[in-house]
Amino acid sequence: MMKRGLIAGTLLLAGLAAAVLVRTLQMSYEPSGVNPVEPPRVDEAAAVDRLSAAVQIPTVSYQDSSDMNHEAFEGFVDFMERSYPRIHGRLERERVGRNGYTLLYRWAGRDTTQDPVMLMGHYDVVPVEEGTRQEWEHAPFGGERTNGYLWGRGTLDDKSGTLSAFEAVEYLLGTGYQPEQTVYLAAHHDEEIGGRRGAAEVAKLLKERDESLDFVVDEGMPVAEEILQGIESPLAMIGVAEKGSLTLRLEVVREGGHASMPPRQTAIGELASAVHELKENPMPAQFGDLLQRTFEPISAELPFVYRMGLSNLWLFGPLIKRRLAQVPHTNAAMRTTIAPTIFRAGMKTNVLPAHAEATINFRIHPQDSVEAVVDHVRSTIDNPTVEVHRLDGAREASFVSDLDKQAYQQLKRSIWETFGEIPVAPSMFVAATDSRHFHDLTRDIYRFRPIRARPSDRTRLHGTDERIRIDNYLEMIHFQIRLLRNTTS
Ligand SMILES: [Zn+2]
Repeated sequence: MMKRGLIAGTLLLAGLAAAVLVRTLQMSYEPSGVNPVEPPRVDEAAAVDRLSAAVQIPTVSYQDSSDMNHEAFEGFVDFMERSYPRIHGRLERERVGRNGYTLLYRWAGRDTTQDPVMLMGHYDVVPVEEGTRQEWEHAPFGGERTNGYLWGRGTLDDKSGTLSAFEAVEYLLGTGYQPEQTVYLAAHHDEEIGGRRGAAEVAKLLKERDESLDFVVDEGMPVAEEILQGIESPLAMIGVAEKGSLTLRLEVVREGGHASMPPRQTAIGELASAVHELKENPMPAQFGDLLQRTFEPISAELPFVYRMGLSNLWLFGPLIKRRLAQVPHTNAAMRTTIAPTIFRAGMKTNVLPAHAEATINFRIHPQDSVEAVVDHVRSTIDNPTVEVHRLDGAREASFVSDLDKQAYQQLKRSIWETFGEIPVAPSMFVAATDSRHFHDLTRDIYRFRPIRARPSDRTRLHGTDERIRIDNYLEMIHFQIRLLRNTTS
C-alpha cells in the first residue's frame, strides 16, 4: 500500500515536472521580421537648435498660479509659430483655455469619415528645487550641448516629446504628405499641475464637437536600458493603462489631557494602529493578464528559473507574486498602493493631543475602484473612532488599451523601424499623464516616449541634471515620422 502510494506520487511529480519543462521551453518571442528604416533627411542641427531654444524658455508650472511667468508662456507660443512655419501655414490652430497657452492643431485627413488620431505632449516643466541650482552641471534653462547631450529642464519631460511630434509633422508637410485620418497635435501648458486648464479644456472642446478619437499617444514610458543583469537589449515599454488616485484623511478626536495619566486609548495610539493595519493589509495583488504580457517579450532572455516560473503561473503564481511585491515598481504594477504622506498630532511634550490626523495617498489599480478602496480602508481599520474623509481630486484608474488593435501593432512596428528589433512590452503606467482627461474620447491611449533611459537616469526626471542624448532626440523624431506614416497612410 505504502509502495503504491509512493509510485503514484513519483509519477505525479514526474508528470508535473514534464509539464513545467514543456511550458518553459515553449516560451519564446516570435521575431517580427520588421527591418529598421533608413532615418529621414531632416535638418538635424536645426531640429536640435529648436529643442535647445525651447529649453531656454522657462515655462515653469508652479502650484501657486500667481507665480506664473506669462511672458515665458506667451514667448513659447511665439517660438512655436516661428519654428514651424509649415504647420502654422497649413494646419488649423486654436489657442485653448483662458490664456490660450495650450495649443491645439488640426491636420485635416483625406478621409474625414474616420476617427482622428491625436499626438499630445506638454511644454510646461517643473521648477528647479530651491537650493539645487548649484548642483546642476549645466544651467537648467541654458539648453547647453556637451558630450553628445542636450541639458536642461524639459529635455526628458516633455519638451522633447512635444517638439519631436512637431518636427515630424513639419517634415512630412515638406514632403507633401497628407494623412488618411485627421491628426490632432496638442501642446498642453499645465500638465505638471494637473492639466485642468490645458488638457481638460481641449478634451471638453472636442466633446462639445462630438469628436471621438481613434487613439491617443501621450508621454509615458521609455525605452529602458540595462533593465536586468544579463539582458543586453533595451526594452520599449508602452503604458497601456494608468493608475487612478485617491487621498483620504484619517482623523481621531479624543479627550486630551495630561501625559501623566494616559488612558488606554489615545488619539495618536488609535491613529497609529489604523495606519499600521492598512500597511499590514494591503489591497490584493494580481499577476494579471497585463503583467503577464509585460514579461512575455523578455521572457526568452530571462534566467531559466524565472522563465520556468513565468511560464507556469498555474503552479508558481503565488511565489512570483510574493517576489514581485518586494520590489516597489513591480508591486505598484500589481495592486493599489497605500502611502501615508502626512502625519499630524501633538505639540507639547507633556500633553496628550485631542486630535490626530494622517493623510494617505492611494494609487488605484484598474482592478479596483475608488469605492472599493474606501470600503477596504473602513473594514481594515474597523474602528468607528477613526473617521475617514475623502479629499477632492479622486479619480478612477484608466481602462486597459487594446493590444490587438491595428494602431498598437503599428506603434510596435514604428519602434522596430527606429530601434531595430527590440522587445516591446505593454505595461502599467504608475504615474499620471494629461491623457487621463481623454478617457471619454477614446478607448485606446498609448503612453510612450522613445527616450532611452537607464536606471541611473531616474533621478534626472523632475530632478537635477535633466538631459537627453542628442542622437536619441533624433531617434524620437524618426520614430514620430514612422508612427504617423504607419498609422495614417
Ligand atoms: Zn511630463
